[in-house]
Amino acid sequence: MKYALVTGGSRGIGRACCVKLAQLGYNILVNYKGNRAAAEETASLIEIHGVKTELLAFDVADKDSVREELGGWIDVNKGSLIEVLVNNAGIRQDTLLMSMTDEQWGSVLDTSLQGMYNVTKQVLNPMLLNRYGRIINMVSLSGLKGMPGQVNYSAAKAGMIGATKALAQEIAKRNITVNAIAPGFIKTDMTEELNGKELVNLIPMKRFGMAEEVAELVGFFASQQSSYITGQVVSINGGLYT
Ligand code: NAP
Repeated sequence: MKYALVTGGSRGIGRACCVKLAQLGYNILVNYKGNRAAAEETASLIEIHGVKTELLAFDVADKDSVREELGGWIDVNKGSLIEVLVNNAGIRQDTLLMSMTDEQWGSVLDTSLQGMYNVTKQVLNPMLLNRYGRIINMVSLSGLKGMPGQVNYSAAKAGMIGATKALAQEIAKRNITVNAIAPGFIKTDMTEELNGKELVNLIPMKRFGMAEEVAELVGFFASQQSSYITGQVVSINGGLYT
């Protein structure tokens, strides 16, 4: 039983990744933090493709909860293997550093960077034993170029990029690839309150991207066709200069 785990799979880019990976034939573990109704909606979209799905509620930033819920699932499902991991859960708490609270700094770093660590630690050993796997980290344009008003988010995503490159080299010989995807502006709940009219003028394609467009790239990195690509960051941003 081969599974793909998508953190933050209940909404937005994560949901589109779940559907794409289901189309590729993977059973899907949908992680979410609190929005059960959205996770159930994702599950119904996955089931259309005839694969199994399970919902796993945990906060990726909470190491104990990740160990309990995800580690518990791995212990109980010995015959199953998480072959694809998409570290997608992330939040924004935008403000200038001069007015940023410790909480705003911490929660963003804890969700993206610490969350990636917490989840990858649970999944990695079985993947190493199986000598095959795909790890895909959802980063951001902000992590490549830095964005004013997003010192916390830029730091979190840049940290994930460094970890992607280092881990890729550690485990390449076990046939496990680790790559990062850096979206620009994608139409999801996360970007809902941004001034779209103003921002599209900065984008050569004059539109926000769709979650499904990001999911196509996830599908490629998850597939065997991407077998000789590892440690890379691929931008998907409608031509924004990075
Ligand atoms: P979104 O629509 O706000 O959805 C966020 C998802 O992450 C939800 O499924 C949410 O679960 C989950 N989540 C948040 N905190 C979590 C936590 N602590 N533990 C577990 N799950 C958690 O976001 P999105 O736009 O799809 O973004 C997905 C990823 O792409 C993020 O890493 C984001 O930084 C990155 N990204 C997005 C854009 C963009 O323009 N949208 C651009 C660049 C990068 P609940 O439903 O339970 O709340």
